[in-house]
Amino acid sequence: EEDEEDVYGDFERYPITHSLPKQIRLGSPPPMASSRRSFSSEDHQSPRSPPRKPQRHSLPAPPPPSICPPAPPHASTPMRELPAPPQEKTAWRFTRPSVTFFSRQMPTRSSVPPKGRAPLLGAELKFLESIFDPNHERFRIIDWKPDELSCQFNVTGEKLLIIHCNITESYPSTPPIWFVDSDDPSLTQVLSRLEDVRKGSTLLLQQLKKLICDLCRLYNLPQHPDVEMLDQPLPAGPVEKDKKHGTEEVTSEEEEEEEMHSSDEEDNSSTSSKEHLDEADRQQEDEMKRKKVVHIAQEIMSSEKVFVDVLKLLHIDFRDAVAKATRQNGKPVVDERILSQILYYLPQLYQLNRDLLRELEERVAHWSEHQRLSDIFVQKGPYLKMYSTYIRQFDNNVALLDEQCRKNPAFAAVVREFEMSPRCASLALKHYLLKPVQRIPQYQLLLTDYLKNLPEDLEDYKDTQAALGIVKEVANHANDIMKQGDNFQKLMQIQYSLNGQQEIVQPGRVFLKEGTLMKLSRKVMQPRMFFLFNDALMYTTPVQSAQYKLNSVLSLAGMKVSKPSQEAYQNELNIESVERSFILSASSAKERDEWLEAIGRAIDDYTKKKITFISSRSQEEAEGVVDSGAPLGSKAPIWIPDLRATMCMICTCEFTLTWRRHHCRACGKVVCQACSANKYYLEYLKNQPARVCDHCFAKLQENSDRCASASTSPIKPGAFSFTRKQKKIPAALKEVSANTENSSMSGYLNRSKGNKKQWKRLWFVIKNKVLYTYAASEDVAALESQPLLGFFLREEKNGPAQKLQFKLYHKNTLFYIFKADDIPTAQRWIEAFQEAMILEQ
Ligand SMILES: [Zn+2]
Ligand SMILES: [Zn+2]
Repeated sequence: EEDEEDVYGDFERYPITHSLPKQIRLGSPPPMASSRRSFSSEDHQSPRSPPRKPQRHSLPAPPPPSICPPAPPHASTPMRELPAPPQEKTAWRFTRPSVTFFSRQMPTRSSVPPKGRAPLLGAELKFLESIFDPNHERFRIIDWKPDELSCQFNVTGEKLLIIHCNITESYPSTPPIWFVDSDDPSLTQVLSRLEDVRKGSTLLLQQLKKLICDLCRLYNLPQHPDVEMLDQPLPAGPVEKDKKHGTEEVTSEEEEEEEMHSSDEEDNSSTSSKEHLDEADRQQEDEMKRKKVVHIAQEIMSSEKVFVDVLKLLHIDFRDAVAKATRQNGKPVVDERILSQILYYLPQLYQLNRDLLRELEERVAHWSEHQRLSDIFVQKGPYLKMYSTYIRQFDNNVALLDEQCRKNPAFAAVVREFEMSPRCASLALKHYLLKPVQRIPQYQLLLTDYLKNLPEDLEDYKDTQAALGIVKEVANHANDIMKQGDNFQKLMQIQYSLNGQQEIVQPGRVFLKEGTLMKLSRKVMQPRMFFLFNDALMYTTPVQSAQYKLNSVLSLAGMKVSKPSQEAYQNELNIESVERSFILSASSAKERDEWLEAIGRAIDDYTKKKITFISSRSQEEAEGVVDSGAPLGSKAPIWIPDLRATMCMICTCEFTLTWRRHHCRACGKVVCQACSANKYYLEYLKNQPARVCDHCFAKLQENSDRCASASTSPIKPGAFSFTRKQKKIPAALKEVSANTENSSMSGYLNRSKGNKKQWKRLWFVIKNKVLYTYAASEDVAALESQPLLGFFLREEKNGPAQKLQFKLYHKNTLFYIFKADDIPTAQRWIEAFQEAMILEQ
């Protein structure tokens, strides 16, 4: 570790952004560089009116007017253009069970189609929603995001399929990518056959039609008449006509939550935000793309100019500085062979990239004549492989530089003086030596962006594909070299796999662990690739094999990792940090425990290391921060996933399509709007006002009274009346909440009523010899409570279900059949039941 500090210590002075390729941002033309907030208030009114219903099913009522004051100005940084979304055809599948959905627990959907993709997609999704409403018997749209669609196919009452699809920015020219959480080969076959659907303007609808038909065939179900609707033309015409005014023009809370919670799931939006597509729009879009292509070409050229200058700095200027010192000293300050080794391959790279730059400059200067540049890369392709050699030697050569600086004071003085010179802009020599390593991923990023905006019929299209192939090959090769390497190479490899989006190499940073975990968002689980370092936890979205899109880098400072309180969630772990908190799910309890231990140890080590740098006086203070006693609002809470609460966790009113879930930004609980009518300034949100539940509101007010801080005064709720659907719940059902402590057993079981074969998945708790039944694991009131004294159990004796199932009897009456997910769980339940059925002396 000391070596690491030493070798890369010089980087410390320089913020990451200095060396981050600025061309990462270049893809976004000015109008697109806005945050998601900017289009949420203006463009989204129309979808809030109920969708036009083509057939049969009853309409959901329109949502009640939102009660929250206009959203706070968005504090986070503007979105930036990211590399292309997944292009790979292979439909990769989840191998883990995902969340199961009940009809009663259908999550509310954002009523707004995603912006930014082809305008057509929004229209398709809206049309889709109007056909397959949340109560549709066969097929439902569970959720959508700008790049993801989740739907549910109901095979029978008890068997559901959750199917996801990724929609890339270049939809419909790039077809959606489908995947399903099942290992059934016939299912994956159905999905792969979707690729045969010929490209059309309503590709998604056509694919869905085929999907539903094929699934019905697979499960011997009658074809559903509603699929015919998918062939109808999309409702045409501008949708912006029904503009609302006055107080109704408020950002939907649902969107706001979505945005706040998943601002890391970045939106690649780049196209027009209009809902309809006519000739004029298409032309406008083409024109925009054409401008973008020119812009990217210029960026490729100008970034090349900067890069060639770096090569010149190393190959010419540094050598000159050494030669000058040699002349002044009257003898060589460094062995020529050693200097050549340190500057290994730089003469060749300088030559290559100078040529490349010259040709690029010529093309850009006369752009209208050629309108192409990728052929240059194709032609230079074989030489780009020199970069592999440079990368292979990189850390040896940096080590050699350091060694020389230690052993040879005269040489060290030359290096120091050179670094201090204006030419170096106060950056370390090593910083510049790293640049060629980073250049290949930059090419990849730039060319990908270029290709994305290039019309397919243009001459340069094929060349760009070829050029990308070459660049990727070099990058992959570099990746392979680094795979077998040490910590530094591992860090470089991760940096490569992120397409250079983030500078992973940091002084003193050590790679610890990596792996895929499911991250629970409000409604769905999504696979994320996690990287644990000795100072941070980073998570990314897999986009194609060994390539990731960065979501977030969370510092280990103040981070907490823990098991959930309910043992039924034995694959899960909770991550709490100041910026973000969330639930992760591993594929097994063992894997979960490994992560728990690795992250826990990393946090401990990091904290200890930090404390040694703090004077003993403030040590107590530092430990206090590490403790869980962070004041309310200083840390992002874990948002309880929507499906785990079917009722407001304060007033127990039931959520419906119109009476929606809201999350308290202070504690993360799911509450209704009546119980969260206040906003409060929260520290972790940089003191922006945000929705809080009534409990937190009272606590926060109390805290601020104590601190008498003027900056945290509460915000008065607006004068709105509420129409809450509150059922009378007997007190006995509110005694114990689903997430209670000290229960003798709790968890999900499938339950069937006697002779009826219908299974229902419910959450059960046995506490004080009473069985409580809940719709979901965070519900605060039970559906039923049943003292178990006088009951007895019979275990299933034969058949494949034996050991999973057991029957609950009273006298000779069969009450319920229970079915656990696995045998150990069934055994634990049986013991808990039996213990609750007998009276202790
Ligand atoms: Zn409530
Ligand atoms: Zn709260």
